[in-house]
Amino acid sequence: MSETTPVQQQDVSAAPAKVNLMGLSEEKMIAFFASLGEKSFRASQVLKWIHQMGVIDFDAMTNISKALRSRLQDVAEIRLPEVIEQLDSSDGTRKFLIRVDGGSAIETVFIPDGERGTLCVSSQIGCSLDCSFCATGKQGFNRDLTAAEIIGQVWIAAKSFGQFGERRPRIITNVVMMGMGEPLLNFYNVVDSMNLMMHDNCYCISKRRVTLSTSGVVPALDKLAGLTDVCLAISLHAPNDELRNELVPINKKYPIAVLLASAQRYIASLPDNHRKITIEYTLIRELNDRPHHAHELAELLRDIPVKINLIPFNPFSLVNYQRVSNNALRNFQEILTKEGFIATVRTTRGDDIDAACGQLAGSVNDRTRRSERYRAMSAQVDALEADLTKNAAEEPIRFIAT
Ligand code: SAH
Ligand code: SF4
Repeated sequence: MSETTPVQQQDVSAAPAKVNLMGLSEEKMIAFFASLGEKSFRASQVLKWIHQMGVIDFDAMTNISKALRSRLQDVAEIRLPEVIEQLDSSDGTRKFLIRVDGGSAIETVFIPDGERGTLCVSSQIGCSLDCSFCATGKQGFNRDLTAAEIIGQVWIAAKSFGQFGERRPRIITNVVMMGMGEPLLNFYNVVDSMNLMMHDNCYCISKRRVTLSTSGVVPALDKLAGLTDVCLAISLHAPNDELRNELVPINKKYPIAVLLASAQRYIASLPDNHRKITIEYTLIRELNDRPHHAHELAELLRDIPVKINLIPFNPFSLVNYQRVSNNALRNFQEILTKEGFIATVRTTRGDDIDAACGQLAGSVNDRTRRSERYRAMSAQVDALEADLTKNAAEEPIRFIAT
C-alpha cells in the first residue's frame, strides 16, 4: 500500500499512559520503536509475537534483549478487551461477548462452514446510521472501537481455537466487518486492523477473504483505495432511493447512484481486476421482497460487476418487520439468476445463541430519539469527511494508548 493512515491520538511523550501495542499497524509499530531509538526489525518481531504466536507477555519474547523488554514494560502494554462469555451453538457457531472500556459490551461471531471459518467482527459500540431493520442501529451509538479492540476480537477468537504458533491449522480463514457498527465511520482504526489481519507477520488472511461491509459512507469509501485492498460489500437492501431512504437513512445523504459509483471506483483501483462488489440485500416480508423489486434490482445492477447476497431478515423485538417467506425468497433469487446474476442466500446460523445478522446487540446506553439520531449521524459523517480531507502526512506522530 502506498499511503499510510495517520497515527492518531495522544502524544506518547506527553502522556503518562502506556502505549498499547495491540492495535498498532506495522507503520505505527515502526514509529513507536523509532521513538525508543530502536531499529524497525523490532516492530516485525513484536508483531509476530503478538499476532502470530499469541504472546502478550514481554518477558516471553525471547529474541528481544532483557534491557529492551524492561524498557517496554515501562512504556508499553499489550492489552486486550475482556471476554465476558463464550457461547457455542449446536451448529458450530461461536459467539464471544466482549467487555470494552467504558462498560459496554460488543459481540464477535465465528461461523464455520466446511473448510471455511468466518469471523464476523464489530467496529463500533452501537451504530449511528439507524437502519430501520437492524438491532445494533436501534441501540444508537456509543463510541468507536479502538484498533486494539477490533484486532483484539481476532486475537481472542484465534486464541480460543488454539490457532497461534507455528504450523497450527488455520481455523479463521475469512473475516467480515459485518458485526456491530459501521466500519467506514471508524475509518483509520478499521483500516489498520484489516491490514493487520492480512499482514504476513500477523494473521496472514488473504485480501480476497477480508470483507468490509458498508451502508454507504461515500467520502470514506472514496478514501479507501490505496490504503487497503480488501473486498467490498455494499448493504443495499432496496432497488430505488425512495425505499432505501426509509430503510437506510444515510441514503438521503448519499443516494444509490452516488454510492454505486464510489464502490465501482474502489473496485477499479484494485490491482487484480476480477473482483466483484458483494451486494447485500436483506429481504423483509412484503416490503422489498416483491418480484418487481427483483426486476428493478437487476436493472440497477445490470452493468456493474456484482454478486448478490440475499439475507432473510432476522426478526428482533423492537421492530414489526417479518422474515421473507421461503416462496418469496426462492422467487427473488430465481428472477436474479435468470437475469444473469450470481445470487446466493445467506443461511441463518447460530440462531440458538442470537448470533444471526442484525441480532448483535451487546449492550449500549443511548436513549436519543430517532430525529436527533439522524442529525447526530449526519454531523458524524461531516466531521469524518473533514478529517479525511486533511493530509495524512501533516498529522503528528501520535499513538493510540488504549
Ligand atoms: N454497518 C455495516 C456492517 C454491519 S451490518 C453495514 O450495514 O453494512 C452487517 C449486515 O447485516 C448488513 O448487510 C446489514 O444490513 C445486515 N443486517 C442488519 N440487521 C439485519 C437483520 N435484522 N436481519 C438480517 N440482516 C441484517
Ligand atoms: Fe449500522 Fe449496519 Fe446496522 Fe445500518 S445495518 S444500523 S449501518 S450496523
